[in-house]
Amino acid sequence: MVSKEMEARIDQFIADNRQNILKDIAALVNIKSVSTKSDDPSAPFGEGCHKALDKAFELCEKMGFATKNYDYYAGSAVYGDAEKEIAILGHLDVVPEGEGWTHDPYDMIEKDGYIYGRGVADDKGPTVLGLYALKAMKEFGIKPNYTFRLVLGCSEETGMGDLPHYLAAEKMPIFAFTPDAGFPVCIGEKGQLGFYIDLPVDGKVIENVYGGTVSNAVCAKATAVLKGISEADLGDYDKNAYIVEAAENGLKVTAVGKTAHAASPDGSVNATKLLCELLAKLPQLSETEKKAMAAVADILKDCHGAGIGAEVEDEVSGKLTHVNGVDVLENGKLRLRMDIRYPVTLKGEDMVARIEKHIASIGGEVSNMHCTNPCYKPADTAEIKTLLAAYDHVTGKKGVPYTIGGGTYAKHFDNAVAFGPGFDDMPNPCGEGRGEEHMPDECNSIDYMMKALKIYIISLLGLNELSL
Ligand SMILES: [Zn+2]
Repeated sequence: MVSKEMEARIDQFIADNRQNILKDIAALVNIKSVSTKSDDPSAPFGEGCHKALDKAFELCEKMGFATKNYDYYAGSAVYGDAEKEIAILGHLDVVPEGEGWTHDPYDMIEKDGYIYGRGVADDKGPTVLGLYALKAMKEFGIKPNYTFRLVLGCSEETGMGDLPHYLAAEKMPIFAFTPDAGFPVCIGEKGQLGFYIDLPVDGKVIENVYGGTVSNAVCAKATAVLKGISEADLGDYDKNAYIVEAAENGLKVTAVGKTAHAASPDGSVNATKLLCELLAKLPQLSETEKKAMAAVADILKDCHGAGIGAEVEDEVSGKLTHVNGVDVLENGKLRLRMDIRYPVTLKGEDMVARIEKHIASIGGEVSNMHCTNPCYKPADTAEIKTLLAAYDHVTGKKGVPYTIGGGTYAKHFDNAVAFGPGFDDMPNPCGEGRGEEHMPDECNSIDYMMKALKIYIISLLGLNELSL
């Protein structure tokens, strides 16, 4: 793999650049770059992303890399000018900071070996590691047998509308990895279905239902406004799970669950399910309302497909998952916004057919179906073996490829995987619900980041020697 001399050079490079890496990450983190829709042609994802991309160009150019701007949809920096390309797919946009931070999310701080700020782990920190991996190759005077391109996306978190623009301007890389997940290497991403389920509600008792904020997370809070109902009508209910308040014509009932990402809903508690379970027992409801409440409780009785007639799994990627994220009551219909992740070896159209059939059988209607196909790469290709060997060498472990609920940039490329930089054994100093990607107090261990950089450098050196 890597010679003793080269390994010593890599270690020295990392030690020499450690402070600059942190400084460069801070420069990006301190620009609030939540991707938004904008009509400004010079900032298609908003001013923050525009500024972050300009800053990233500055960092890349300072190291002597040529950069390219795809109309502020994305950017890139390259090392080498060979015909075939290997790409590192990073992104500069971040999710909104949300609530609960103990310090300014856009003023990166360092404390006890960790850095804190929105984007330190997802994905500004990892993107800067990609840049320094290119810098190492350049400083070591490695002749690039491929064009190594660091891609700087600006809309990863909001639908990846940056990629079509990028891919229209550049050729498809022969291989790519995205530093936007965990080690060792993610070789598969489940297929995704997004759709609505509508159930008729005639409004005899149920005046309104609303819940959730985003469709890709389990609904954590769901509320119903009820007409002509008193608290006594609810009977014996769990005071920890429901908040019951007086409303103008009756009651307002809010169910409180526990959210989780749609890709990994195990352990979550769906608030919509809790709400509908309780309401289904009310004798005052009309038959239509009773049927709708019972149907929703049944749809959400599990999160692995039983409630939607698609309890399926495969060996490489496990069980299908299904959650609802958002509820609205409109035009006499209760609408659930659903997010399904189906196993990599199954077909989207089969899933759709099964789900539509099942939902129709319980009196519901499916609409607005969106499907993203799964991706799956065999683990025994030379390029994936190269990444795994680098991981094994640096960690002293035996890395086993894994699959996820999806989706990263990798799904949109012909031959790409997600590769680090998260480590399973990295301690989280913030405790549950904090410290990780998309959470308050997002943080990253500096030592672990340096370990990730070493893996990336060794990987690039290895990839450079392959004939892809
Ligand atoms: Zn990300």
